[in-house]
Amino acid sequence: MKQFYVEPGKKVDLNEWKTDSTPDFEGKKADAAPEIEKLNAKLESLQELLYAEGKHKLLIILQGMDAAGKDGVIRHVFDGVNPQGVKVASFKVPTPEELSHDYLWRIHKYTPAKGEIVIFNRSQYEDVLAVRVLKLVPDNVWKKRFDHINAFERMLADEGTTILKFFLHVNKDEQRERLLERVDDPAKRWKFNPGDLDTRAQWDEYQKAYEAVLEKTSRQWAPWYVIPSDKKWYRNLAISRIMVATLEKLKMKYPQPAEDIEKYRTELVG
Ligand code: ATP
Ligand code: MG
Repeated sequence: MKQFYVEPGKKVDLNEWKTDSTPDFEGKKADAAPEIEKLNAKLESLQELLYAEGKHKLLIILQGMDAAGKDGVIRHVFDGVNPQGVKVASFKVPTPEELSHDYLWRIHKYTPAKGEIVIFNRSQYEDVLAVRVLKLVPDNVWKKRFDHINAFERMLADEGTTILKFFLHVNKDEQRERLLERVDDPAKRWKFNPGDLDTRAQWDEYQKAYEAVLEKTSRQWAPWYVIPSDKKWYRNLAISRIMVATLEKLKMKYPQPAEDIEKYRTELVG
């Protein structure tokens, strides 16, 4: 999955990153099904191990334009994992209370504890994305935030958090199709938010803001991956692959059982 990894410090031009590629599968979803099933099963047992061992913390950050598929990733990639030990934190427009604090205040309390996986559906990055594009604070305020965020994530990593950040990269036409579905399909209408059209109208500004995020905040200990997300099945597969590979590298082990556990068998059997 090296091909989706954003090299720290490297310039990013999102036009050069594909939104619709499906490496290894030539666009054929059916061919990917067995691997997706296998990855889901692996993720399920790795998550159980993470929870049982109670040592590592995993933070997954999902960012993307509206309808890029953040919800879909949460539904599909975590299909089958034990809800105990996995949490989702969604960051919407800040409340007045949140706004009266620094922007990391609301974020920090949702970071994972030992043995937990936490998925951020949007994140601290909104404070250099939406906030920048909508001009909610002056330039000299948001520009300093890349350094804060890097320092914050470095601290989390130093204290035992594994961080993975995914930008779900979709084509503007693909977004139109998905937003149209939300208008046309009665079962999807609840998802339609007229405000998404204003955000869509500022597509280029958002892409530019995302490029800055990717360039300035991809780090070895908190890497960004640009995931081609026009094909939902490939997006899920790519993220699952990266998560499984990352968790396998942690070399987790079940904790030591109670001393002389065998002797309890006799006690139980009587
Ligand atoms: P969906 O895919 O269901 O639409 P969503 O994540 O877009 O989910 P919404 O409630 O539609 O959820 O939108 C959240 C909005 O909040 C986004 O437009 C996002 O840019 C905005 N937002 C999040 N954090 C901040 C922030 N710190 N400052 C300003 N806007 C923010
Ligand atoms: Mg939305």
